[in-house]
Amino acid sequence: PAEPGLQALQHADVARLLPVPAAESDKYRRGVVGIAAGSARYPGAAVLAVAGALRGGAGAVRYVGPAGQAVIARYPETLVSDRGPKHAGRVQAWVVGPGAGDDAAMVAEVLAADVPVLIDADGLRLAEAPAVRARRAPTVMTPHAGEAAALLGVARQEVEGGRLTAVRELARRYGATVLLKGSTTLVADAAGGPVRANPTGTSWLATAGSGDVLSGLAGSLLAAGLAPMDAASAAAYLHGLAGRFAADGAPMGAHDVAEQIAGAWRSVTRG
Ligand code: AMP
Ligand code: MG
Repeated sequence: PAEPGLQALQHADVARLLPVPAAESDKYRRGVVGIAAGSARYPGAAVLAVAGALRGGAGAVRYVGPAGQAVIARYPETLVSDRGPKHAGRVQAWVVGPGAGDDAAMVAEVLAADVPVLIDADGLRLAEAPAVRARRAPTVMTPHAGEAAALLGVARQEVEGGRLTAVRELARRYGATVLLKGSTTLVADAAGGPVRANPTGTSWLATAGSGDVLSGLAGSLLAAGLAPMDAASAAAYLHGLAGRFAADGAPMGAHDVAEQIAGAWRSVTRG
């Protein structure tokens, strides 16, 4: 694009980023992603985040939160725990927030972990800014325009009218990698490097739960060892492509997007 400091994500770049398990790999070496999400009110957000995480390259998905029964019913391969994140066992990266309701304690516990953490949805509202800035391991934040506006303390229209400025400012303020969702998703790092713009996607992705699938997918790529910018941008690319495949010109639900991630992955890696 003409905009300086903006890089369009390319198919071939994403293909190089996606993890392939080594011949001698095992599930732990592939990485364990922890999902701290869901609430009595929003159990489905937990299921959708797990759905994304299962297709993102981690060797195991661990779920902590009150929606364990719903998660297991849909995805029996999930490791479910009803104890807090601190006691969950090994995890290489956490996703916190989708459908979390008002569970501020769960968010704080995840932020204290010394591994990469992705914060989405309710987690963005519940996370204390000083606790985010104090983190030593990487942080990724995935707001849509409304959530970004709340974090910046401005009106939503201000974010919509200056998305590049907003994503850079959030990344700088929080010392985080920030993925600003929208019709063109932008990804910025805290260091002020080039911002990546995702060319895939479809407006059919404007459907409930689609962001929850994205956060699980990105968290899984983080657990698999991708750097925060790479995990966030590869997830945006795959999610957008999966959305196109799932919709194919007709309405779809967020779970359909999760089911098309493998197809998107193949299409990226097979060129
Ligand atoms: P959320 O608002 O958290 O459910 O996330 C919505 C997801 O759908 C994000 O990945 C957005 O980038 C995507 N999305 C929403 N609206 C559009 C749109 N008009 N065009 C393309 N993608 C969209
Ligand atoms: Mg969301």
